[in-house]
Amino acid sequence: MEMKAPRGVRDILPDESWKWSYVINIAAKAMADYGFSEVHLPIFEHTELFSRGVGETTDIVEKEMYTFEDKGGRSITLRPEATAGMVRAALENNLCAQGSDAKLWCFGPMFRHERPQKGRYRQFYQVDCEHLGCAGAANDVEIIDLAAEIFRRLGLKNLEAVINSVGCPKCRPVYREALIKYFNNYKDKLCETCLDRLDRNPLRILDCKKPDCGAVADGAPDIYNSLCDECREHFEEVKRGLERLGIAYKINKRLVRGLDYYTKTAFEILSGDLGAQNAVCGGGRYDNLSDSIGGPHLPSVGFACGVDRIILVMEQQGLSFGERPKAKVYVAALDNSARGEAQILTHKLRSAGIAAQCDTENKSFKSQLKAAGNAKFACILGPDEIKNKVVTLKDMADGSQVSISDNELIDYIKDKLK
Ligand code: AMP
Repeated sequence: MEMKAPRGVRDILPDESWKWSYVINIAAKAMADYGFSEVHLPIFEHTELFSRGVGETTDIVEKEMYTFEDKGGRSITLRPEATAGMVRAALENNLCAQGSDAKLWCFGPMFRHERPQKGRYRQFYQVDCEHLGCAGAANDVEIIDLAAEIFRRLGLKNLEAVINSVGCPKCRPVYREALIKYFNNYKDKLCETCLDRLDRNPLRILDCKKPDCGAVADGAPDIYNSLCDECREHFEEVKRGLERLGIAYKINKRLVRGLDYYTKTAFEILSGDLGAQNAVCGGGRYDNLSDSIGGPHLPSVGFACGVDRIILVMEQQGLSFGERPKAKVYVAALDNSARGEAQILTHKLRSAGIAAQCDTENKSFKSQLKAAGNAKFACILGPDEIKNKVVTLKDMADGSQVSISDNELIDYIKDKLK
């Protein structure tokens, strides 16, 4: 039987992987410019971290987690998102002791058992950025600005930032009751999933994508009428801050996001070029996540960008990923007697930091020169060159050749590659 990868996962192959490095490097530089440091976190955690952190009644925890029992009988889950793990790591390592904050980011795979489609995979990759231990609205503004800055630097067009406030444990219960009361009048119009959510998590009905549910949700009570003074003022400050920085946004009162931990600000950055799975970034404030996993109160704000989708959009928009790394020099042996010297020269070039390749499969000189077509220069070595301690250097762009002495070669090539 031919082995295939499981449904919903894919291989990122050389034709694509260099584009990934480009995107991650740009994001890494932007996050460093904003004061964030990279961390590497585990890919699996105790299941409880997500059930308590992300929320028992979320789709992620109820339906989408890859959970298994390990050999020690513990329940383990492949991380479906990175925020809960980031908070766990900060608490465990005392990064926010004595009221200090921590600005952290990570990159890596996340796992959700969703229905695969374009832009939606079961293993997908996020750049996740979290500012832990910060309460003021200026931090929300900064985090949205950073997300937008990453996309600006990547050159993405046709994006829209959408924001909302989802309240806090003081005001959300009031809103929840108002929603339950409202949706109870339209039970015949709601889909199965929303009916199931009605008593347990009515806010989630607001972002159901089914047209009938959407029509009902359009008429639902407005969260802004239920926000407490603190949440209302926080939301106003976020809006003012975004305006100060010239960041365009839209308000979507139905944006609630699929993770229960959000409080106050929730936001998404949407692409007009992605179809149904149009979010390239999602985030918000989660003041109570730490409390819910047994830690101290740690108000925080963050976001996650979907790298798979960013690459899709960039390809669609024909954006540049910089230059694909390739060998700059190909060392070709004119005959068999020169093969050993060719390998030694290739080694020397590489040690000097010049990307170089040579043949290791006894290929003819002709096919070596063909392979050299991908490089900028071919170094040709034959018995004469070896005897005279020179190399024939061929510029592959115009075919011109020069003879260079062994000890000048590396400086000469470095100079030409500048
Ligand atoms: P979330 O963690 O659900 O807030 O998602 C944050 C971002 O991750 C989204 O805006 C998407 O860009 C990306 N994302 C989420 N789920 C998937 C998935 N199944 N496949 C690909 N990208 C995803």
